[in-house]
Amino acid sequence: MRNGGVSFWWQQVGLPSPTDRLDGDVTCDVAIVGAGLTGLWTAHYLHEADPTLDIRVIEAEFAGFGASGRNGGWLSSELPGNASAYAAQAGEDGVERLRAAVRATVDEVIDVAAREGIDADIVRSGVLHVARSQAQAERLDGELSATQVAERIRVADAVSGHFDPDCARLHPAKLVSGVARVVRERGVRIHEGTRAVAIEPGAVVTDRGTVRASVVLRCLEGFTAGLSGHRREWLPMNSAIVATAPLTDAQWREIGWSGAELLGDEAHAYCYAQRTADGRIAMGGRGVPYRFRSRTDVDGRTQDWTVESLRSTLTTLFPSLAGVAIDHAWCGVLGVPRDWSASVSFDPATGLGHAGGYVGSGLTATNLAGRTLRDLVRGEDTDLTRLPWTNHRVRRWEPEPLRWAGVHTLYRLYRAADRREDAGLERTSRIARVAHRVAGR
Ligand SMILES: Cc1cc2nc3c(=O)[nH]c(=O)nc-3n(C[C@H](O)[C@H](O)[C@H](O)COP(=O)(O)OP(=O)(O)OC[C@H]3O[C@@H](n4cnc5c(N)ncnc54)[C@H](O)[C@@H]3O)c2cc1C
Repeated sequence: MRNGGVSFWWQQVGLPSPTDRLDGDVTCDVAIVGAGLTGLWTAHYLHEADPTLDIRVIEAEFAGFGASGRNGGWLSSELPGNASAYAAQAGEDGVERLRAAVRATVDEVIDVAAREGIDADIVRSGVLHVARSQAQAERLDGELSATQVAERIRVADAVSGHFDPDCARLHPAKLVSGVARVVRERGVRIHEGTRAVAIEPGAVVTDRGTVRASVVLRCLEGFTAGLSGHRREWLPMNSAIVATAPLTDAQWREIGWSGAELLGDEAHAYCYAQRTADGRIAMGGRGVPYRFRSRTDVDGRTQDWTVESLRSTLTTLFPSLAGVAIDHAWCGVLGVPRDWSASVSFDPATGLGHAGGYVGSGLTATNLAGRTLRDLVRGEDTDLTRLPWTNHRVRRWEPEPLRWAGVHTLYRLYRAADRREDAGLERTSRIARVAHRVAGR
């Protein structure tokens, strides 16, 4: 089994070497820090709106090195973040507008990919959420019976399910490298191998020179804490994935997974899975949730404990796959704000802006955030700039060691709640409710 190497997705398409490193000081119109999907979509839509803009993207490694090239490939219509936090800012109507905008964005991504010739193994196959205990079923409130779930995928001990058709399966590295290619072809410079060390109004200071620009956009998601002055802003939460060896036709038949629908459960320490285009199961989950002092992994290597825990989840859902080999394991970080809700912000007075904090549902949200940042930077008042995540403010995380102790306690509580629910508890465990309160969700 390979562990790390950034991700299985990148190993499949080939790890790129950084290109177009910054070579001394430059001046441009817009400087974007971070070449994940947030930064790249923002560059794409800003350039489309005004092709005369000189846009530079500053990237420490290579475009797609972060979560955008490592994720589970769920292009999903799920709300990125906590509905009650958005409702506090913009009421229920605001939450519904955000939900509708995210849902419509699934098609926007699919359309752009088709238009621009990005082949990212996209199938608009929907997602099957499965409840495996009475407590999970109560939370899910799904319309599918156990028999109907089994007609789609035979998950052991499924009690009920919910199918959301507005969701697509994709190959993360193919999508992000495709978007990077498109923006480069339009003339946007992506300065890879160039690390930002500080951001200030009018400038990005990097290890290879200073980029001066009247607009500076921070798009660093789980890496935000690495930037001076932002350590306690968004917590870098780990997520890890294992990819099995290709399954045989008989194995696929045995588990009844004949389509490309995505699959997730309703545990508190939930799992998410996809059937890859080359016939594997890629299954992800939390594992070790957080590293002390907001450290991030080096090249996607994850802990052995996490690999074993994901292997165990896989065989709990599909006992017939007990002997199947795991070919690859990796992890990455996502950005978690203190109220578990994303924000897209821009201050015209300073020219500083940012987007992120999607808490694990960023694949669709990055595109919506990119279009929202475009409108904010251009000073336009649109349906997008009126969404409740615009200029959403949130307090910072606690200092260490409280932050580390808090997050680890939280996930111990979630795992304890899952164990009690698996043992037959009929309602959501009180332990999970306490954990939610501790988390501030
Ligand atoms: C394992 C995993 C599974 C996931 N699964 C899903 C999923 O199935 N569906 C879903 O919707 N979401 C999923 N997510 C979340 C989703 O991938 C992210 O929300 C999304 O990719 C965030 O994109 P981004 O561009 O904001 O950040 P990133 O893609 O992380 O990009 C940030 C970039 O900044 C660069 N960088 C870091 N520090 C610096 C610096 N100092 N200077 C310059 N550049 C820097 C990094 O190298 C990186 O390229 C998952 C995340 C992980 C980690």
